[in-house]
Amino acid sequence: MNKASNTKRRQLVVGNWKMNGNRCVNAELLAKVMTSWQGEHRAEVVVCPPYPYLQHTHELIAGSSILLGAQNVSEANDGAYTGEVSAQMLADLHCKFVIIGHNERRRMQGETDEQVAQKFMAAQRANLIPILCVGESLEQRENGQHLTVIGQQLQSVFSHTGRAVFAQAVVAYEPVWAVGTGKTATPQQAHEVHHFIREQLGEVAEVVRILYGGSVKAHNAEQLFALTDIDGALLGGASLDAEEFLKICKAAD
Ligand code: PEP
Repeated sequence: MNKASNTKRRQLVVGNWKMNGNRCVNAELLAKVMTSWQGEHRAEVVVCPPYPYLQHTHELIAGSSILLGAQNVSEANDGAYTGEVSAQMLADLHCKFVIIGHNERRRMQGETDEQVAQKFMAAQRANLIPILCVGESLEQRENGQHLTVIGQQLQSVFSHTGRAVFAQAVVAYEPVWAVGTGKTATPQQAHEVHHFIREQLGEVAEVVRILYGGSVKAHNAEQLFALTDIDGALLGGASLDAEEFLKICKAAD
């Protein structure tokens, strides 16, 4: 028995496939996952394939409890935005969740806090559940600025939406220095930030799921999930390996 049985929040494991896979690889991966993840579970599992595979993935997970998410969304509703995909389109393609403000988009595509806030609102307008990613760089952590940075990332959304709408959102704490690097935050570091994020959420704090992301693997998932304020994980690399992914889903279950 783990913490999932004594918290009101349902544990959530989200696989961010990033720009990986193809129809064949995705089908093999999901077939393996679904063989061991049948019926209903206490933990909720979401996979986020690249845009072109959303429909195919929807077909592959049909009849299972696995849900569909996207990795990004446009802040605009529609119009002349070449190459962009709207929240309504994602909802139309059966997505329930969308990752917002992933650090790779903040760093590589230059997404600003303001843009992230606009994307968050666009997702909610289409009844998608935004998974808002926040987290500090190594330099910011070494300078002791991590809580300030994360506070600002949250505040830039709160200033548009207030806090109540977070009852229909998920927050993911992803220290930039831990994503894809094999380095994981220590339980103490994760606890400090998750507790801080929950405090910032004010009146809805107790219902919002806060995920940890950053080199979560089967060997460290259980220790992280045992922490009171960690409600699951956002996974990159581990979500591409069926065995690893399943072990983490089971640790959350
Ligand atoms: C991520 O990309 O959100 C992530 C957490 O990646 P990884 O698990 O590979 O560190």
